[in-house]
Amino acid sequence: PTDINGLVEEFVRLSYHGLRAKDKSFNADFKLDLDPALPKAEVVAGDLGRVILNLVNNAFYAVNEKAKSGSEGFRPEVRIGSRRVGSGVEISIQDNGTGIPDSIKDKIFQPFFTTKPTGSGTGLGLSLSYDIVKAHGGELLVDSEKGKGSTFYLRIPFS
Ligand code: ADP
Ligand code: MG
Repeated sequence: PTDINGLVEEFVRLSYHGLRAKDKSFNADFKLDLDPALPKAEVVAGDLGRVILNLVNNAFYAVNEKAKSGSEGFRPEVRIGSRRVGSGVEISIQDNGTGIPDSIKDKIFQPFFTTKPTGSGTGLGLSLSYDIVKAHGGELLVDSEKGKGSTFYLRIPFS
């Protein structure tokens, strides 16, 4: 049984500090809104951690891209939440970054699909994440609007 909130905190910090170390111009806020009463879940912690890392890396990348494009008064922000939903946990990763155009929404979970420049992305993050989530009997959903931002929902049963 794994403390999901602890796992979320650990991998969000890993993502944030990793990006800051790589790119001095990286600038974003993140907010955690984690349910303190969340029951532990039987997960493969390393695998679920990797999913969280992928999703949070993508979110920070998206807000950083929008910040670099110079929108006036833009405050890059990523919100990560956890809550109980039925007999499982839902982790949400919300960003106010570039968003995903409708034309590619059905492609983002495919292996090797990326819109990032060579060297910045492998296009494997979401396909791998999808496989890991499926192996846990869970689901991975996205709600996104181009120019406004994206929210990914990761749902995993407690056991
Ligand atoms: P990679 O990050 O290596 O490109 P992923 O599988 O993680 O590969 O993501 C695939 C594509 O989905 C990205 O290149 C990007 O176009 C899109 N994407 C994923 N997450 C986001 C997000 N939070 N905001 C905007 N686009 C996203
Ligand atoms: Mg990625």
